[in-house]
Amino acid sequence: MMKHRIMIVDDDPITRMDLREMLIDEGYEILKECKNGEEAVEQSLKLLPDLIIMDVKMPILNGIKAAKIIRKKLDTAILLLTAYSQRELIEEAKNSGVTAYLVKPVTEVDLIPAIEIAMSQKQQFECLSRDIQFLKKKMENRRLIEMAKGKVMEFMMMSEEEAYQWMRDYSMKNRVSLGTVADLILKQQDVYN
Ligand SMILES: [Mg+2]
Repeated sequence: MMKHRIMIVDDDPITRMDLREMLIDEGYEILKECKNGEEAVEQSLKLLPDLIIMDVKMPILNGIKAAKIIRKKLDTAILLLTAYSQRELIEEAKNSGVTAYLVKPVTEVDLIPAIEIAMSQKQQFECLSRDIQFLKKKMENRRLIEMAKGKVMEFMMMSEEEAYQWMRDYSMKNRVSLGTVADLILKQQDVYN
């Protein structure tokens, strides 16, 4: 099991202690314990936990408001702990980007699967964002190559195929990628010789 770095946030020291014991028993790493939402925001931005387990009802800044602020800046998974299972609260929690919520008192039977699901969702999401980034880059690259090819056709009075071949030759001769060749052409650097 990967050792997830977890932050515990609750204004009640007994709950914090219970959670800490359950988590340590299961081999998780407790990164930090906080007693209100404000501390949670501050510490999570500093320590970048994988997961935050956070109470809803806390002084200074409640768990839902804190979750909203944190989720705007980090893609940390957040499990909310609540004493109630009110519809309104659940809706609000969903809108603040909370991964899941648990109703107190929390037992190991609820907590551990919730953590594992939250973490695997986070990993899937991260994989997906990486794929999207990669595709975006690839498409942008292709777009630049097309634009550059147009310039070569115009400047060297070549057919599309000739222009593309010219760019490929240039790339091989100079051991640079086609994307780089396109970049040079578009920046109008001296490549035509
Ligand atoms: Mg509380």
